[in-house]
Amino acid sequence: MAKNAAARSKPLEAKSPFEMRVNLSKELPETDVQSALESGDMGFLHSFTTGSTVDGPGVRVVVWTTGCQWRCRYCHNPDTWTMRNGYPVSVAQAAEELRKYTQGLKVMSGGVTVSGGEPLMQHRFVLKLLKAAKGMGVHTTIETNGYLGDRLTDADFESIDLVMLGLKKWDAESHKELTGREIGPTLALARRLAARKRPVWIRFVLVPNLTDDLDDIKKIAEFAAGLGVVERVEVLPFHQLGRFKWKELGIKYHLEKTEPPSAEAAEKACAVFRAAGLEAN
Ligand code: SF4
Repeated sequence: MAKNAAARSKPLEAKSPFEMRVNLSKELPETDVQSALESGDMGFLHSFTTGSTVDGPGVRVVVWTTGCQWRCRYCHNPDTWTMRNGYPVSVAQAAEELRKYTQGLKVMSGGVTVSGGEPLMQHRFVLKLLKAAKGMGVHTTIETNGYLGDRLTDADFESIDLVMLGLKKWDAESHKELTGREIGPTLALARRLAARKRPVWIRFVLVPNLTDDLDDIKKIAEFAAGLGVVERVEVLPFHQLGRFKWKELGIKYHLEKTEPPSAEAAEKACAVFRAAGLEAN
């Protein structure tokens, strides 16, 4: 494996995932990338952030992976779409980073959250890291769009204390237009998690004129409520913190002029989830 980690120009830890990071594995031979994905001994990370109170229960270390097959129009971290934009980091290195915070995470009822990008793009690495975290007694969460859920076996679920699942749009055609991919695999993962009684939080991004149709939200809410394992729904108001990334990456951004939703609109969306019997905020 090439020693790209030694050539880091930025620390692995970032102040926030909104730091722009590109081409950090550019020089890595394709064979090394493939062998990393196959063995899971090495993964590709945008960064670590610490002290998050918005990425799962308690206070969390968040591991931001690179690589995502989706192209959500509102994505605020498009630099994480490309795996080679991330640092190559061994499981041992990542686990050592995490170990530094173990005691604090336990005291603050927190844990580690693996987000992205889409973590299941490098599921073997992620599972090894989560198993290491469990071995340290740390609560584990993944935030996923669910599309690659069939990469996880039922036994793998045991290493994941909580799945934060993104449900973005119910209508199949609109979902594909919004994300570039079908909704079916995401729903299939949700149903499997429900059948195995695994805890789930739903994340829903509210974007004016894109995801704010209350009938569509109602269908998401009814599906989520029917699972019987959804502990809470987070309605995340769209924001423009990632707009500069689209510009710098030279990708056409359709939401250039979209404003964040009003507090009233966010409350209306929450009310739809609550009406279905879910806790939402
Ligand atoms: S699934 Fe997440 S990382 Fe991937 S494009 Fe959508 S918002 Fe961005």
